[in-house]
Amino acid sequence: MTHTRNTPVSRKQSLAPDLDGMADRAARAWRERMAVDPLDGGRYVVESASGATYVVSLPNSRCSCPDHSIRGERCKHLRRVAIEVTEGRIPPPGFRAADCLACGRETFVPDAIRLPLCFTCGFEPGDRVRDRETGDLLTVVAVTDRRADEVEITATDSTVAAHPTNRAYDSAEPVVEAVYPGSERRYSFPRSRLVRRPRAVSVGDSSPTVTG
Ligand SMILES: [Zn+2]
Ligand SMILES: [Zn+2]
Repeated sequence: MTHTRNTPVSRKQSLAPDLDGMADRAARAWRERMAVDPLDGGRYVVESASGATYVVSLPNSRCSCPDHSIRGERCKHLRRVAIEVTEGRIPPPGFRAADCLACGRETFVPDAIRLPLCFTCGFEPGDRVRDRETGDLLTVVAVTDRRADEVEITATDSTVAAHPTNRAYDSAEPVVEAVYPGSERRYSFPRSRLVRRPRAVSVGDSSPTVTG
C-alpha cells in the first residue's frame, strides 16, 4: 500500500479535553451541569449546578459571582459561556438564535439582520443561481433585509410576493436581487425561488436560458 503524497496526517491523540490535566476552574467549567441563557449586549445568565444564577458579560470578561467579583478569578461561569459559544451551542455576542426563513433550521444571525437565513441558504454577491420557475441562470447582486411582500416591482405595480410566479413562495422570505448574464438590470426574487449553482465555470454557462 502506498501513501498519497500531500495527505495530511494528524497526530495520534484523543480529541476530548484532558480534564484531569486542567486547572480546577477550567475542568469544572466543562464538567459541571450548568444552563446558559443569552441576554442582549453579550451578556448571559448562567444557572450553576447549585441552582444559583449569575450574569456573565463576555465583552467585559465579567461575572457577578463571588469568585470573580471578590476574588477576581476567571471563574467557571465565564469559562463555561466561552466554551458554549466556541462549541456553537449558544450565539456569540452580537448574534441571536433564529429559524432560517428558507429552510427552517435554527441558526445564529447578527442582531442587525431582521430576516434570518442560515449559512447554507444565505447568498453572497457573485453567487451563480438558477431560477426554479424558468430555469434561467442569474448572478446574485445582493440579499436584502426586506420581505417579499414589502418590495415593490415598479414595472408591474405589485410586490414581489404578489407577482403571479411568486405565489408559491413564502411572502416573509427576504428578497434577493440578481442580474441576467450581460445585463445590469436587477430583478427581485423571493430567496427560495433561486437555487445555488456550482462556482466552477463550464461550457454553455453563458447561455441565457437553460432548463433543468
Ligand atoms: Zn462566575
Ligand atoms: Zn436555511
